[in-house]
Amino acid sequence: MKAAHVTKFDYDLFVIGGGSGGVRCARIAAGHGARVGIAEARFWGGTCVNVGCVPKKLLMQASEYGALAEDARGFGWESARPTHDWAALIAAKNKEIDRLEGIYRKLLTGAGVTVFDAHACFEDANTLDVGGQKITAERIVIATGGHPERPGIPGEDLGIVSDDAFFLPSLPPRVLIHGGGFIAVEFAGIFTGLGAKVDLVFRQPHPLRGFDEDLREAMTEALIAQGVTLHPNTTLTRIDAYGDARRVTLGNGAVIETDLAFFATGRRPNTRGLHLDRAGVSLIEGGAIAVDADSTTSQEHIYAIGDVTNRINLTPVAIAEGHILADRLYGPTERDWNFAAVPSAVFSQPPLSTVGLTEAQAAKHGPADIYVTRFTPMRHTISGRTRRTMMKLVVDQASQRVVGAHMIGEDAPEIIQGIAVAITAGATKKDFDRTVGIHPTAAEEFVTLRTRTRVATP
Ligand code: NDP
Repeated sequence: MKAAHVTKFDYDLFVIGGGSGGVRCARIAAGHGARVGIAEARFWGGTCVNVGCVPKKLLMQASEYGALAEDARGFGWESARPTHDWAALIAAKNKEIDRLEGIYRKLLTGAGVTVFDAHACFEDANTLDVGGQKITAERIVIATGGHPERPGIPGEDLGIVSDDAFFLPSLPPRVLIHGGGFIAVEFAGIFTGLGAKVDLVFRQPHPLRGFDEDLREAMTEALIAQGVTLHPNTTLTRIDAYGDARRVTLGNGAVIETDLAFFATGRRPNTRGLHLDRAGVSLIEGGAIAVDADSTTSQEHIYAIGDVTNRINLTPVAIAEGHILADRLYGPTERDWNFAAVPSAVFSQPPLSTVGLTEAQAAKHGPADIYVTRFTPMRHTISGRTRRTMMKLVVDQASQRVVGAHMIGEDAPEIIQGIAVAITAGATKKDFDRTVGIHPTAAEEFVTLRTRTRVATP
């Protein structure tokens, strides 16, 4: 630990929130010798472990088996059409999540962190109320994450949000999802794959605003191919109960009957009930905690990391922010992470993954060479399923550095993770070209893109 000193506080560091970022920060700080406490009121591991990335991926994997069984017929397998047991899936998922939650708690106690299963809020800038107990800390980290937000329309209480989707008692035959972001697209694939009829309502021409335009168009095609009914360029205006069903009215006048209305219209930082005003911690517009590049808030001994700061709302980023902060405060050296090219994935069907600049972003910096390929993956030449892959490289023309890679297709996140290393290392198109492919794979296309598709200009 940096410069040991006598302190009048109960803890050197107290972390509010036991999600991915908070847990990492607490563990690393304790490993450096700091006296660390952490409070979590709901579940250890936070959104990602309990109602986010992990259970979502399990549900997504579950939802693929039906189509894979269909694909198998093309390869000579004969079997009865499989049926799905939603309750069995949720029970298996819950068992795994309970196991992981236990691991998170053990990691903390194993690292010497004092764990409080309690809500924490500020009494003043160095004093917390932790489940009714007054605790003082020299430094405090706010890592309280975010929560799904409803869009503020009449009847919105008749719908659910993603937290609820993981615990539905049964699979609704019809689901209407409102939103066109990560969560909307992922759950559209999950529910469709498991056999529900899904309507997806979003206010843009294509889902996933902010992603590369070619990817967005390919996502529209993929959702249609999977059987999702799309309602672009419109929004929900109201929901009414209709017996056990719901009648959903859209801005374009259409009325859709469904069994489940699901809002995936974004998330908001969790700051309510923290009494940040008592500690002098400022918020920015939208309710996130204001921080500088070092995750320091408007109080120099109070920090905030992860979704509560609404920077890059991804688990690995929150983990990196927590780790960097703990090293900076208590460690001998700081760890270097590259936030300029953060890879991410949407676990749609097929999945989509991306790293670096979109074509439009790259073109703002100067001409960009664009390489695009679209093809039917080998498996589906025989399965007969309509499923296309699209891969794209964005290359800065002046330096010939690859500044963006985008893919929709099977294994896209597994492939893009490797490409992200190349982009982080500053690889040029020539480096990609002199890399030998692995045949036959889809990934090899990234090193065999010889013909420029177009030049993007500012
Ligand atoms: P997003 O911000 O990704 O998407 C929100 C969607 O809701 C957008 O399509 C937005 O439309 C729409 N929307 C917002 N407000 C309204 C409104 N009032 N009326 C109609 N539509 C509205 O949020 P998500 O909830 O999907 O996910 C939250 C975040 O969690 C993500 O941004 C991501 O950072 C993270 N996440 C990451 C995942 C992953 O890594 N695989 C998976 C899930 C979540 P518009 O585009 O027009 O604004």
